[in-house]
Amino acid sequence: MDITSNTKLLGIFGHPVSHSLSPLMQNAAIRECGLDMVYLPFDIEERHIKDAVQAIRALSMVGVNVTIPHKEAVSELVDELSEEASLSCSVNTVVNKGGRLIGYNTDGEGFVRSLKRAGVGIRGRNILILGAGGAAKGIIASLIRMKPSRVVVSNRTVSRAEGLVDMFKARSGTAIEATSLSLETLKKRLKYTDLLINTTPVGMEGRGGLDIPIQELSPGSVVADIVYKPIKTRLLREAEGIGLRTVGGVGMLVEQGALSFELWTGHDAPRDVMERVVIKVLKGHED
Ligand code: NAP
Repeated sequence: MDITSNTKLLGIFGHPVSHSLSPLMQNAAIRECGLDMVYLPFDIEERHIKDAVQAIRALSMVGVNVTIPHKEAVSELVDELSEEASLSCSVNTVVNKGGRLIGYNTDGEGFVRSLKRAGVGIRGRNILILGAGGAAKGIIASLIRMKPSRVVVSNRTVSRAEGLVDMFKARSGTAIEATSLSLETLKKRLKYTDLLINTTPVGMEGRGGLDIPIQELSPGSVVADIVYKPIKTRLLREAEGIGLRTVGGVGMLVEQGALSFELWTGHDAPRDVMERVVIKVLKGHED
């Protein structure tokens, strides 16, 4: 990569940020499209996030991705928000339009597109979401635009699910409700679920598993997990074991990155290249 005085700067703000696969994925996309840009990771402590956002303007950066723990803070620091970013009060992509910072959230749309790519429909579906954190918020904001029949948010801390549900109820006409993550509740709810989505980190490497009675799901149901490390989580393996269709988290990772890339560059993102580099690293990690 030849860096010159014309090279444009992109990056990711997070804390920590060393685990992020975005630099690898975005630099592969930049190379593939022959763009004179570079994408760097920036580990930004929470007390510095305001200065970091100012620096996007000062350094004439093209834009940045934003990850944990800054997504909500950045939604209050930019000049304008997209519909999804506004609905979820969370920004994962900033575009610098001549000094005016526009905040987007491509997580939810990235997830929805990963479902579409896998041929999974949303309209009229009964959806059960495990978890009520930042990722769930972005995903719900995009899902409700696709007119599901009902969305149930099931969370360990029920009050957090209730807060999320209240927020979306006030802003959309979708039937949405909050429940606990207890085994009895899940058993009852899964019987009426077409699409189960895990948005908790449970299933990530080094973390145990949630006991989800997936045998209660009907045969045509789909199980999605947004965790991508390992590529196939215990939940997905168990679901496949009983013949259910599954969608893993790599698709969302690639799609959210591809959407960010397109917002910054106006180029079609080379999704195949992005997916290939991510899978190579994740598989290397599993060996
Ligand atoms: P977050 O804001 O910290 O939320 C975590 C959620 O998981 C909360 O609802 C939390 O429940 C729940 N949870 C955590 N540990 C749990 C446990 N042991 N048992 C039951 N529930 C538990 O995190 P996030 O930003 O939403 O991210 C969640 C996961 O999604 C991470 O693994 C992240 O890597 C993944 N992710 C993937 C993509 C992708 O592109 N594929 C994108 C974004 C995020 P409480 O409210 O009770 O604490």
